[in-house]
Amino acid sequence: MNQASKPILYRLKPIDLAGHRFGVSMTIPEPRAQGQILTMPAWIPGSYLIRDFSRHVESIEAWSGRKRIALTKINNHSWRTARCKGPLRIELVVYAWDLSVRGAHLDESHGFFNGTSVFLLAHGFEDRACRLTILPPDDMAGWNVFTSLPCVPGKTDRRGFGTYQAKDYDTLIDHPVEMGHPKRLHFKVCGSEHVMIFTGVTPNLDLDRIAQDVKKICETQIRFFEPQTARAPFLDSADHYLFMTMVTGDGYGGLEHRASTALMAARKDLPTVGQGPAPEGYQTYLGLVSHEYFHTWNVKRIKPAAFVPYDLQRENHSRLLWLFEGFTSYYDDLLLLRSGVITQQDYFKALSKQITSVLSGPGRLKQSVADSSFDAWTRYYKQDENAPNAIVSYYAKGALVALALDLTIRKRSQSRKSLDDVMRHLWNVYGRDFYQGHPKGLDEGGFARAVAQATGVDVQEEVAAWTEGTEDLPLEELFATQGIKMHWKAAKSHPVLDVKLKAGPEGCIIASVIQGGAAHKGGLSAHDVMVAIGGLRIDDKPASVDAVLAHHQAGESLPIHVFRRDELRCFDVTLAAPAAAECHLEPVSAP
Ligand code: ZN
Repeated sequence: MNQASKPILYRLKPIDLAGHRFGVSMTIPEPRAQGQILTMPAWIPGSYLIRDFSRHVESIEAWSGRKRIALTKINNHSWRTARCKGPLRIELVVYAWDLSVRGAHLDESHGFFNGTSVFLLAHGFEDRACRLTILPPDDMAGWNVFTSLPCVPGKTDRRGFGTYQAKDYDTLIDHPVEMGHPKRLHFKVCGSEHVMIFTGVTPNLDLDRIAQDVKKICETQIRFFEPQTARAPFLDSADHYLFMTMVTGDGYGGLEHRASTALMAARKDLPTVGQGPAPEGYQTYLGLVSHEYFHTWNVKRIKPAAFVPYDLQRENHSRLLWLFEGFTSYYDDLLLLRSGVITQQDYFKALSKQITSVLSGPGRLKQSVADSSFDAWTRYYKQDENAPNAIVSYYAKGALVALALDLTIRKRSQSRKSLDDVMRHLWNVYGRDFYQGHPKGLDEGGFARAVAQATGVDVQEEVAAWTEGTEDLPLEELFATQGIKMHWKAAKSHPVLDVKLKAGPEGCIIASVIQGGAAHKGGLSAHDVMVAIGGLRIDDKPASVDAVLAHHQAGESLPIHVFRRDELRCFDVTLAAPAAAECHLEPVSAP
């Protein structure tokens, strides 16, 4: 970047809280004279689905001083201005009513936005520095601003409103912003500041407990990647790391950024002051925190070459999401164990659950994790009722690939090396200097080579078979090398229909029919509403199906009445024995 070149100026203000609208302006000091092209991202990095954020742009105008300039829409995401002289000002109104980690949300209680939802990119100025001025809403006092985006020194007020800076557009859109009056806590890890905020209704939230646990997780991860220096990874992007959690009745999800993460959590999963032990779901929340923080190294810095740089106008395909999401899923729980916030028993339980989820889906025999990665855009992110039969999760099976490789490396190196060495090697080669000089990504076939360099163990064949093939991983024999016994039990004691059920407004609904199972053979279908089994009424709860089946035996044939659309139909279904498909792990000797 030419230091003398003037930055692109962005300005954002919540202009209509009740109507959920942000007013955004953008000034380009030296626009392209023949017409400036402007683009809204079609997707947000970390969430591999075309979302067409431009659809929330309600109005857009271009101005040169007091003169209105014509704008032409040239594709789904882009506009071109007529010829003009600078500076060029673009005024937008953006609708923000998507309560997710991926979009933007605004009402009288708070505002949240990702840059991908509100900021246009000026073509030809991708590397130009940006300044963002955030203004408070007129009719709401007392809000504070939270973001990991660095402020311009002296240009923000004590509430955080004012001017921030980004070295380029990619940086600008990688620091989401929350404003409102969330609960907050902060702590230092290895000398670096960490801030957590909680938006939403959270009576008596046990902030001390959360701070104590998250601090341990962060410290374990920093020392994992940087055992020598204990240097936090975000320090060349921000002066602190920010966890922003939106708390709702049943939320769950997270999205990673270079110095922050946006999370959704269910209220019942968070600890309450004076309520004794934390709720069972708290481990899920800590796992999510651990997952997104691990991404600060793995995917925000160590990246597939296909993401360097991101092309935000179209799908960016990589066959490696099993590494970037799957390995992150392996380490999220493992590092909870290593940081001491869960017990080995808790860890084995979580790992068994993950193994069960992969091994119970017939889709694993049809789709490899490499194919699942490549097709994330059209399949994993667009799941329908047939998903369990057709696809495999690159998160869940990717985590098992990590586990199998970890055990293989430990075995072949006589426990001198592990997958940890591979992650540190990737960090050294691709991650640490990512934001300095010329960033490079891992090429699609480069992983096995990296393992050999890091550990001296050749896993070329295993990586090919486990990521490009569909055979089950040899987990049982690998666990045995570590003194862990893996065995299988049936999840239910009564016969089954081999379906997934859900409670719906019309009754108990078949969510998925497992291919080759009892329901499939008998003719039942996804979306059928259960009416009666063997002449006994089924209510809206899946447990009512279990209650009837508990009186029968495998091999019996029963009439099952369902509504398919508005038609009452009856199928004779032969009940199946429950498969021994629930994994259990048990240490039998000292690992
Ligand atoms: Zn992830």
